[in-house]
Amino acid sequence: MRETTTDETAISAALETLAAAPRLIVALDFDGTLAPFADDPSQVGALPGSWAAVLTLHRAKDTEVVLVSGRPLGSLASVTHAPEDMALVGSHGVEWRVDGHDEATLTEDELRRVARIGAALDEVGERYPGVVIEHKPAGHGVHTRRVSAEVAAQANADASRAAHDADPDVLERGGKDIVEFAVRHVTKGDAIARLRELHGADAVFFAGDDVTDEDAFRVLGDGDVGVKIGPGETRAGYRIADPAALTGVLKQLARARATR
Ligand SMILES: [Mg+2]
Repeated sequence: MRETTTDETAISAALETLAAAPRLIVALDFDGTLAPFADDPSQVGALPGSWAAVLTLHRAKDTEVVLVSGRPLGSLASVTHAPEDMALVGSHGVEWRVDGHDEATLTEDELRRVARIGAALDEVGERYPGVVIEHKPAGHGVHTRRVSAEVAAQANADASRAAHDADPDVLERGGKDIVEFAVRHVTKGDAIARLRELHGADAVFFAGDDVTDEDAFRVLGDGDVGVKIGPGETRAGYRIADPAALTGVLKQLARARATR
């Protein structure tokens, strides 16, 4: 496996090469990537410079911009104010909006399981003030951003037990200050693979900050560019410090893509 580099010259060179691809997908995580973190997830927004570059890329020929998030599709759409024709992938790949059409793929049985798990987690949430249970279409998130590490560990252990009691097949996935319990094992890697096929792309750019983004970095190949935001182990080829640094990367890519 290739080493991850923080060398700006190397990142810059990779972007120039990428911008020459005949058909390009620019796939971006939202929270912690386009947008800095905030205590109230409904109040966050993409950094203005990053969003301007995203819109330039969205208008560029043979270029498909896709926002790929763990958020439910509706939440992703409302927090980004994305144009109608921008592709959105929510719930780590369970929900899709392509060409303005929403697509949910859960069966009746899965919907029942989601409801059962949600009820069990709500009971846990009631015992831990400050712990927020977020209900999503394919599962639920237990948010521990506002509590101490000890309380978070205890709440997560209780939540895990309750979720598995409610549904032995529940899928558990950890992220930054969040543990998610879902009924469908779809990853951002599956989403990238499907997008690549859907758009007949020759190359993919993907940027993300969290452990669930590693599934996407894992499916990137030699002609693609993966950018990890911030610290933490990664399979991405490149690493930058924070969402503000991504603005520079997206601006360069947008400029190179628009003038190729
Ligand atoms: Mg993120």
